[in-house]
Amino acid sequence: MWQGDGMDLLHLLISAGKQHGRTGFVSNGYVFEKTDYAHEFIRGYVDECGQPLLMMFSVDFIHENYDAATDSIPFLDSLLSARAAYAAEKQVALSLISHWTNRPEINIPLHVFRNYEQQGVQCKIDDFMAWGSGSEIADLSCYVEVSSRDKTSLGPYADLLARQMVLQDKITGEEEFRELPNAELLRRLSVCGRAPNFLISWDRDYYYCIPHMGHDWLAVSEIGGLTPDSWESFHSARPVLGEIHKLSIFGVLEKYRAVIPERVLDEVYAMRESIRFAGCSICLRLHREGVLEEINQRAGDEL
Ligand code: SF4
Repeated sequence: MWQGDGMDLLHLLISAGKQHGRTGFVSNGYVFEKTDYAHEFIRGYVDECGQPLLMMFSVDFIHENYDAATDSIPFLDSLLSARAAYAAEKQVALSLISHWTNRPEINIPLHVFRNYEQQGVQCKIDDFMAWGSGSEIADLSCYVEVSSRDKTSLGPYADLLARQMVLQDKITGEEEFRELPNAELLRRLSVCGRAPNFLISWDRDYYYCIPHMGHDWLAVSEIGGLTPDSWESFHSARPVLGEIHKLSIFGVLEKYRAVIPERVLDEVYAMRESIRFAGCSICLRLHREGVLEEINQRAGDEL
């Protein structure tokens, strides 16, 4: 929680809400476990600012903010009671995102989210994305074998994913989900060139995407140096990125098969890939092998 010059996050939010009409922030919620503080915070915001506030929380095995003994999320209970006490249900929206792994015993159970949804909390479950320090526990991510159709390694996340894909018109139903080759499943889930992967600051530079953080070839500009020109020139020198965005990495593997050594092709189709990365591990492997740059050359010649 930000603090400075005798002010804290509450002052910042009140000021931002007054200036911009609505505001919000993301937190792990620890600070609201103290019910008194949760009440002070909500009352302070409601009294001082007439604008909507969105409070978003990450709740999962990493943040350890779910209490299995009481089957509840203590900070959320404090905020719900504060919101009700100041009749702020319409003004203050509560939203949480949780990340499931392939180990059901460490995921927060579904009924917990259903319970909070009934109390007006917006809940979303995504799969755990193993990047940054999370890459040390990558074996917990929901993954599939690229060359197979088997989806049992997704654990209970499979049902949620199938429902989500139906809602997004990516599949027609559970049967198609079960039968879909995993490479095709990942192709349909690719988020290349789109949020949340898109343009990330890391150390001194902006990188094209989260998976390529720290890879010089995918650095767009120095932090502070990003201009429309740097974006244009970055893209025009790397037509392969447009190809991956359009076709997914699997479409690129097919289209540029002739450029890729057979050993690398065999290796990438033998990989297992997390649902959240949806092909990014393959893209990283191609970059490490220098194949992405080869394809870039070919794509540049063709475009
Ligand atoms: S497919 Fe490659 S370029 Fe696209 S987001 Fe993933 S790692 Fe980045």
